[in-house]
Amino acid sequence: MSETESCLFCRIVAGQIPATVVAESVNSLAFRDIEPGAPTHVLVVPRRHVPDLAGLAAASAAELADAVALAAQVADDEGLPGYRVVANTGEAAGQSVFHAHLHVLGGRSLTWPPG
Ligand code: 5GP
Repeated sequence: MSETESCLFCRIVAGQIPATVVAESVNSLAFRDIEPGAPTHVLVVPRRHVPDLAGLAAASAAELADAVALAAQVADDEGLPGYRVVANTGEAAGQSVFHAHLHVLGGRSLTWPPG
């Protein structure tokens, strides 16, 4: 099985696993997190398979910018007065899916620093 065939987010991008898609662009897809940590919890993923944010930055600055722009669009669409964009990178930081993604969190008071 290839890397993309076994990747959960590649399968969501391909429409093989259902997800609640809220926005999309040519290079990125935004869908609701299955276990939301806030009233708005959306994941923005590049369509391209790269394991993490550094991989996306190395692969394509334009696709990285596209993902960030889509995250901002989601926050605007959701009417969030404030929001947080997080990219857990590496197991030590809590990354559990090794396909780059941005968490867009909002709709409640967010404390700092996160745990
Ligand atoms: P990470 O832990 O890698 O930063 O974030 C992965 C996120 O993917 C988690 O917040 C988790 O809830 C979410 N997730 C895991 N499996 C699925 C799934 O099948 N569908 C959706 N929509 N989200 C998922």
